[in-house]
Amino acid sequence: MKQLLSINHFFWKYRWRLLLGILFVVLTNYFRILAPQLTGYVVNTVVHQAEASGNTGKPVVNGANDKNYDLLVQGIITVFDRQASLGKRILFSGITLLVVALISGFFMFLMRQTIIVMSRHIEYDQKNGIYRHYQRLDMGFYKVHQTGDLMNRIAEDVSRVRMYTGPAIMYFINLAAVIGFSVFFMLKSDPVLTLIVLAPLPLLAITIYYVNTIINKKSERIQGLLSDLTTNAQESYSGIRVIKSFVQEKAMFGFFKQNSTAYRDNALSLAKTEAIYFPSMALLIGLSTLLTIMAGAFRVLDGSVSMGTIVEFVVYIQMLTFPVSAIGWTASMIQRAAASQKRINEFLHTEPRVSNSTDAVSHTLLGGIDFRDVSFTYPHTGITAIKDFSLQVRPGERIAVVGRTGSGKSTLAQLLLRTYDPSSGMLLYDGVPATSLRLEELRGQISYVPQDVFLFSDTVAGNIGFGVADANGERVRQAAVQASVHNEIEHFSAGYDTMIGERGVTLSGGQKQRISIARALIRKESPIVIFDDCLSAVDARTENEIINSLYRYLQDKTAVIITHRIFSLFAFDRIIVLDEGRIAEQGTHEDLLHLNGLYAKMYERQQEETTG
Ligand code: ATP
Ligand code: MG
Repeated sequence: MKQLLSINHFFWKYRWRLLLGILFVVLTNYFRILAPQLTGYVVNTVVHQAEASGNTGKPVVNGANDKNYDLLVQGIITVFDRQASLGKRILFSGITLLVVALISGFFMFLMRQTIIVMSRHIEYDQKNGIYRHYQRLDMGFYKVHQTGDLMNRIAEDVSRVRMYTGPAIMYFINLAAVIGFSVFFMLKSDPVLTLIVLAPLPLLAITIYYVNTIINKKSERIQGLLSDLTTNAQESYSGIRVIKSFVQEKAMFGFFKQNSTAYRDNALSLAKTEAIYFPSMALLIGLSTLLTIMAGAFRVLDGSVSMGTIVEFVVYIQMLTFPVSAIGWTASMIQRAAASQKRINEFLHTEPRVSNSTDAVSHTLLGGIDFRDVSFTYPHTGITAIKDFSLQVRPGERIAVVGRTGSGKSTLAQLLLRTYDPSSGMLLYDGVPATSLRLEELRGQISYVPQDVFLFSDTVAGNIGFGVADANGERVRQAAVQASVHNEIEHFSAGYDTMIGERGVTLSGGQKQRISIARALIRKESPIVIFDDCLSAVDARTENEIINSLYRYLQDKTAVIITHRIFSLFAFDRIIVLDEGRIAEQGTHEDLLHLNGLYAKMYERQQEETTG
C-alpha cells in the first residue's frame, strides 16, 4: 500500500477534477436516496387509505380462485376506486421518482466524466514518465531486464494502477456516500431494524473479497499462460523457415498443444469459480432482503414501524448491496495496483549508471582519444573484457582494431560511446575526461555503426536519416551512394520510400549492414567515427567500393575501425591487435607482418582462405 503513496502527486495535480468528482458522487447519492423514502411514502399512503375505507385486506369482488389474481384485482380497485386524490398522489410520486432518477443519473454521468477521466490523464502521465525514464537508463539495465518485462510494466502495470486511480477511488467515495446517506435515514426510521439488516453485509464484503482474490490469482495464471502461448505461436511464425527446413512442424505443434491444453484447463477452472461467484452473491443479497422483510414484519406487528418502512428498508438494502460488494473487489483492485506500482517504482528508482555529471561541460570534439590504464568488467556477468588498456589516438588518425572473437573489440566501442564507463582507469577526449562531457553531445558527435544492425519499421530514407534533423533526400542519397547501397535501393518498388521491417521488404544481411553504414555516413560533421565489424556480410568487391568512398569520408576524422578481416588495401595509420582485452601488438601493416606474431598469423590464414 505504501507504494501507492508515490502517485499522490498526480492527485494533487488533478485535485480540482477530483474534488468535483467527489461533489458529483455526493449529489448522485443524495438524489438516489430519495427513492426509498418516496416508495415508503407511497406504500404507507396506500395502506393508510385502505384501512380508512374499512378495507382490511379481504377481497371485495369475487375473483378467480387464484389468490395472487385476487390480490392484484384488489390492489387495482384500492387504487382506482373512488380514490382520485390518492391516485393523483401516487402518480405524482411516480413522476417525482422518475425525475429524481434522471437527475441522479445525470450526476452519475458527470461523476464518471471527472473521476474516470482523471484516471486516464494519470495513466497518460505515468506512461510518458516511465518511457522517458526507460530512455535515460544505461545498457547495463537493458541487459538485465527482458523486453517483455519492460513492456509489461509500461502497459499492464500502468493499467492496473489506473484501476486504483479511477474505478477503485470512485467506488470507494461512492460507498462512503451511499453508506452515509442510507444509514443516516435508516437510523432515523428505526435503529433496531437497521442493526439487524446491516449485520450480514460485512459477511458479503468479506466473501466477495475472498472469492475475488481467488479469481484474480487464476486470471493471472491464465494471463501468464496466454503470454506463453502467444510467444510460442509468434516464434513459430517468425522462425518458420528454420522449422520447415528442419522438419519440426510436428514437434512445434506438440509444444503448442501442450501450452494450449494448460491454458484451456485453467480457463475452465476460472469459469467454474466465476459460475459459483454470481449465484452465491445473489444468494447473499437475497438472504439479506429476506431478513429485512422478516425482521421488519415482526417490527410492524409490534407496532414499532409502519409497512412503508419495510419497503423503504428493502430498497436501502438493494442500494447498499452493490457498493458493499464493491468493497471486496475494490480491495483486491487496490492490492493489485499496489503490487504493480511497486514494480513500476522499482524501475523508476533505478538510476542510470552512466549519466551526466552535475558539472558536465560542452566540448566540440577535435578527435583526440586517450585511454589511460582502462579496465572494464561487465557488471552483471563479472567478465573482464578490457584489461590495463592504454592507447593514445591523435586527431585524424585512422586506427584498425583487430583480434579474435571475444577479445574485447566491441567493448572498446561501447566505452568510447560511454554506453559503459570504465571500471578503473580513465578515458579522455582531447584531454578532457569523458565523464565530464555532456553525454548527449558526446554521442551526437560520434558516427557509429554497431556490429548488430538494427533497422526500424520505417522507410529506407527514414532509417538512413535516423536522428539527423535536416536529412533531406539528397543527403540520404549521398550517404547511400557512399555505402554502396544506392543502386539496390533504386530497384526497390518504392525506392527510398520502401518500407523496411515486418510488413515491408526483406533485406539481405549485407543490405541491412550497408543501410546501417549509410546511417553513420550521413552524419558528416562527426569528428570521430567508429565502425564495428560492419563489412562482415558484404562481398570483396562491395567491400572495396565502400573502402574507397570511406577514404574521402574519413578525411580529417579520427576513425576506429573494428574488423575481423584485415584490409591490407586500406592504409591505416596504426593497427591494434587485441588479445583477451589487452593490446598484444600494434603498428602498421608492414610492422606487424615483420613482427611475425598474432597479426601475421591472422593475415596468413586469411590469405589462405581467400585464395582457396
Ligand atoms: P566479436 O569479434 O565476436 O564481435 P569482440 O571482440 O567484439 O568479439 P566483445 O563483444 O567485446 O568481443 O566481448 C568481450 C567479452 O565480453 C566476451 O567474453 C563477451 O562474452 C563479454 N561480453 C560482451 N558483451 C557483453 C555484455 N553486454 N554483457 C556481458 N558480457 C559481455
Ligand atoms: Mg564485437
